[in-house]
Amino acid sequence: MVSYRLARERTVRAVEAGHRKQEDVCDAQPELRRVAHHHATALSEPCPICEGDDLVAVTFAFGAGLPNAGRLVADRQELRSLRQRGKPATCYQVEVCRQCWWNHLRESFPIDGTDLTSSAT
Ligand SMILES: [Zn+2]
Repeated sequence: MVSYRLARERTVRAVEAGHRKQEDVCDAQPELRRVAHHHATALSEPCPICEGDDLVAVTFAFGAGLPNAGRLVADRQELRSLRQRGKPATCYQVEVCRQCWWNHLRESFPIDGTDLTSSAT
């Protein structure tokens, strides 16, 4: 797992210091907004920009045989089916604020393509 916490902190600090405009970092695209409304997991921390309590996480998978724009991983079931595909992929989790549309990469993790449930056989 790769954490993007440092890059995130840097971005938040740059906005606080006035080096970056809030509208530049609160720029979630329409598709991301849609996904954030319908397929997101609530996060238990406030938005670092507006301090609202509507911060959510969405996950996309990229890899061979997946759409170029990534495949939405809406739930654990979806994650399991990706693992069972037998092909490697990388999942990216993005946090989105549904109040100010702040968005930033949180973490990425690989899926190696080996089905965990079949390793016992
Ligand atoms: Zn916000």
